Order: sequence, then structure tokens, then C-alpha cells
Amino acid sequence: MSNTNEIVATRLAVVKPSASLAAKAKADALRAAGRDVIDFTTGEPDFPTPQHIVEAGVQALQSGHTRYTASAGTPALRQAIVRKLQRENGLSYELNEVVVGSGAKPIIFNALMASLNEGDEVIIPAPYWVSYPDMVLLNGGTPKIVYCPASDGFKLTAQALVNSITPKTKWLVLNSPNNPTGAVYTHAELRSIADVLVKHPHVHVLTDEIYEHFVYGDTKHVSLLNAAPELRDRTLVVNGLSKAYAMTGWRVGYGAGPAALIKAITLLITQTTTCATAAAQAAAAFALDGPQVCVDEGRQLYMGRRDHMVARLNAIEGIECDLPGGAFYVFASVAGLIGRQTRLGKTLKNDLDVTEFLREDAGVVVIDGTSYGLPSYLRFSFATSMSEIDRGCDAIAAAVSQLELS
Ligand code: PMP
Repeated sequence: MSNTNEIVATRLAVVKPSASLAAKAKADALRAAGRDVIDFTTGEPDFPTPQHIVEAGVQALQSGHTRYTASAGTPALRQAIVRKLQRENGLSYELNEVVVGSGAKPIIFNALMASLNEGDEVIIPAPYWVSYPDMVLLNGGTPKIVYCPASDGFKLTAQALVNSITPKTKWLVLNSPNNPTGAVYTHAELRSIADVLVKHPHVHVLTDEIYEHFVYGDTKHVSLLNAAPELRDRTLVVNGLSKAYAMTGWRVGYGAGPAALIKAITLLITQTTTCATAAAQAAAAFALDGPQVCVDEGRQLYMGRRDHMVARLNAIEGIECDLPGGAFYVFASVAGLIGRQTRLGKTLKNDLDVTEFLREDAGVVVIDGTSYGLPSYLRFSFATSMSEIDRGCDAIAAAVSQLELS
């Protein structure tokens, strides 16, 4: 029942704050209170936007990119995106099949708002990026969470997909490389998922490829539509500048997909945000067309940190993790710590307790696996310096060594 005296709508009762943003806020608050906090929650590059992109942004401001742009994004940026999708992903799009948003996040939100009817189901493989289920709920849809265990590499199998499709399924959300697990789907895995989808033409696919450039060693990023070109008419490719170009605060992302959906997303932008920031769009076009060494340097840097963090965490008794193929997160099992007792006699019952224990006893802030749909795990971000990785792992090892069996 709606209460007309309440300022906040009942619609919001279904959502919770983003766990990653909440954890970051907690780390910031502890730091402001004078605690020496080691922050492993970061969901963004720890280095600044490359200088040549910053300069393009400054120049754009100085040369008058200070006004509203077309709601779908400037033609210049959309053309740069079309070129990028062709050059890097081998995908051909027309300008009217591309829309720019204030980040990838609002593209996903608007795509769901533009497409979901009440009760439509959205298949979300777990572990998932925290915002997918809440965005589905806010738009009247029903998240259908499909558990993908470590034994499947945290990836959706064709069989699990078959079991979760119903006549009400509107979307399947794929995210490779994955946040929080770093899992990267191979061509063969995407193909086997596509083979299922071919038999269910009513299911659309939202493929979130925002971490595509952060894949390590022999791992290659494969765009869903490379493995399954026949899904093009029902796929929305989501990507953005935030991670690859360290541009999280500029707020530029984009979607490429069927013209009717792109038009509907654009309609929502006209009635909400109007357009992404003009100068940020100019800088984004420059980033996509310009030298790509910065992306490669980022990848190299993260790879070294990944290897180091995984080795250090695995050396701590009770913590176990595999090398993630991509993104900048380690999703580690802490099942071995659950059931143990802290110095103060508190038994660690689950990953939420372990998160609190690490914060209080080690000064290390991480995010619980429960928030990503898979309890008994923690997400550690390695988008931080080697020295912080060492400091944090030293502190965790020391705190864990104090735990007793209960
Ligand atoms: N998708 C995934 C999987 C993410 O991790 C993020 C950022 N945390 C986004 C989308 C959104 O990125 P942005 O809105 O900054 O483009």
C-alpha cells in the first residue's frame, strides 16, 4: 500500500545500495576517522586518465564543447565507436545502432527500462556484478539468478541455461571478463550458449564487455557476436571508456544493438539526462581513435599485480583462489576461515563475518561474496599498487594466524 505521506516511493523498496560503492564509502569513512585502511574494494583503475586524453578534454572545453549534444551521442563519438567495434571486435554497426550514455551503467538501466514488461524474467549468472539484479527489479522485471560454481569456472553452462529459460525470459545477461570473478568465456563456451539461444528466439542477450581489454596471459577476449553472429538482431553489446582508459569519472559508455532498442534507449535519455557530457564525449572519441599503448600498459601492470596477489592470498591458510583470466579482481574462497574464532571469541559464521573481521583486525576492506550472489567468497581488487597488495596481504596473514578453531 502506498503511503502518500512518505516522500520515497514504494518502488524503491526493492533496491539496495550498490555493495561496491557502499564498501568504498566504508573504507573512506574509516580513513577519515584516522584508521590506516588498506582498500581492496576499488572497482576502477588506480592511475589517472592518460594525459593525451585529458588534453583532448581540456581542448574540447576550450573550443566550445560546452553545450547539449544529440541525445544518442555526438556523431563524432558514435562514428569512433563504430570504427572501434569494427577494428577491435570485427563487428559492423550503423550509426543508428549505437547510443552513448553517461557510463555503461545507465545504458544497461535504460535498456532494461526500455524493454521489460512487468514480470519478464532476466537470467543473471551468479556471481554477478551487483547492479544487474537491482536494475532488473527497479524496472519491474524478475531476476532469475543461475548459480555458476567454481567447478564450472564461475561460468554459465549450456545446461544451466536450458534449465532456466521459460516463456517469460526476456534477457540473458552475460559479462565477460566478469566482475567479480575475472572469468572469461572462450569461443567454444559462447558457442554452446548460443546453440541454446538459437532454439529460444524470444531470449535477448545483453553482453557487458567493459573489461574486454583486461585479459592476461593466453586468455583472449571473445565478443559474444564473434562466436554467434546470428544473435546480432537480439543482442545489445555494452561497453564503455571507464576501465580501459581509466575514465570512470568522465561518465561515458555505449551500447550497440538493434535500431529499435537503440531508439528506445535514446528516447529515455531525451527525457532523463539529455546527453552525456559534451567535452567527455569529445575526449572519448579521441581515446578510441588515438594511440592504444595506454591500454596495453594498463594490462601489463594489472597482470603483474594479479599474479602477485593470487600467490600471496593462496599462501594464507584458509584462503584459496585461482588465477582470474581477466578484469582486476580475485574472487577467493574463504570457506577455510568460516567456523574459526577471533581473539574476542566471535565465531566467523559466513563471508560477511570474515569481511568484518578483516576490516577490524587487519584494517583491510574487501567485499563479501554474498553481495555478488555467492557466499563463502570475498572479492579482492588488484587495481592498487604492489606495495598496498603486500601490506594488505601481510596484515591479513597476521590476523588470520590469530584465529582459533572453535
Ligand atoms: N559493468 C560492469 C561489469 C562493471 O563492473 C561496471 C563498473 N563497476 C560497469 C558495467 C559500469 O561502468 P560505467 O558506468 O563506469 O561505464
